Amino acid sequence: MTRGIGLYVHIPFCASRCPYCDFATAPATSALRGRYLAALAEEMLREGRALGRPRVRTLYVGGGTPSLLEPPEVASLAEALRRAFDLRPREVTVEANPATLDRARLAAWRDVGVTRLSLGVQSFSAHGLRALGRTHQPEDSAAAVAAARDAGFDVNLDLIFGWPGQTEDDWRADLRSAIALAPDHASCYPLELRLDPEEAVANWPGGGWRVLERWRRDALDGQPDERVVAGMYRQAERQLGMAGYRHYEIANWARPGKRSLHNLGYWRDREWLGVGAGAHSHLAGVRSANPTSLTEYLGKIHTGGARVIDTGADAPGEAAMLALRLDSGLDLPRYTARFGTAAAARVRRAIDEVAPARLLRITGDRVRLTAKGRLLANEVFIRLLA
Ligand code: SF4
Repeated sequence: MTRGIGLYVHIPFCASRCPYCDFATAPATSALRGRYLAALAEEMLREGRALGRPRVRTLYVGGGTPSLLEPPEVASLAEALRRAFDLRPREVTVEANPATLDRARLAAWRDVGVTRLSLGVQSFSAHGLRALGRTHQPEDSAAAVAAARDAGFDVNLDLIFGWPGQTEDDWRADLRSAIALAPDHASCYPLELRLDPEEAVANWPGGGWRVLERWRRDALDGQPDERVVAGMYRQAERQLGMAGYRHYEIANWARPGKRSLHNLGYWRDREWLGVGAGAHSHLAGVRSANPTSLTEYLGKIHTGGARVIDTGADAPGEAAMLALRLDSGLDLPRYTARFGTAAAARVRRAIDEVAPARLLRITGDRVRLTAKGRLLANEVFIRLLA
């Protein structure tokens, strides 16, 4: 592990639950909060020891809403991180809800070494935020960006398109508002609504899956059709491209030198350790995950249990898919050297199958998604994982 690892730390707590969200989350007021943070510190210590106190090259604190931790909680987290790992990261990102930032919290995160704040803006319009069930207000986002800049952080803005009732004009306005704030990085995700319950529902009292399912069925009925959503994606490519952002990954745009180093580690199939509920890891070629239910996670840490190995993982297929998400694409000779001729033959077959639809472009040794391929990437990915 000479190159070091990426470290992902999951803080599941949120002020309220956004009904479209499938992350491992729990109420900020959860009685389990103190025990969870203690378990997280214990897990880090245990993993750090098992891995020989590896160097952490990039750190990403996600959630959930890490920005709602109180400064003393952030300080304890920092102490646990330093005890467990050789913490010399090139980049430290913390995710934030625009409504949960204040000076004291930002100062606490700066002491952890944060370099980058990723803000869950989602939309700048009041009706967009309402349609998504978000509780922050449009004006919170500009204030949060200003506070992050004052603290000396780079800024990423997360936006969602394709929400119920959204028009193309709404989306153009959201992109204009985002660009006006001059972020270093922007992520644009289409709203995707799953209709199967996940474990993390159990972390929230009141209503459970039935309430969420009803909300999601109504939201699905109100979403713009696929053709409009595809047009919105192309609009993001146009507006962000004209504003000087490089479209370096299917859903991500960055100013020069401002790509997310941590996320590049995922897409380049490097090694990372994830700690906390629902966190995934990829170490020594093995993928594993923690339970998303807080009580199960706490039980696992309490009994010294291990991360659950994903025995169904298809390492060659996933590596090909992740590489194709990037604008640099997949280097075929390197891929063959790493995964062998059978895996490379599968990639070749997928390339041949989608060739008539012009979803991929081959230049020299590299294969990349075309503009149309970025829109229909799943058509390529299902063939790589078949
Ligand atoms: S704030 Fe973020 S993590 Fe929390 S429920 Fe909403 S979308 Fe999910």
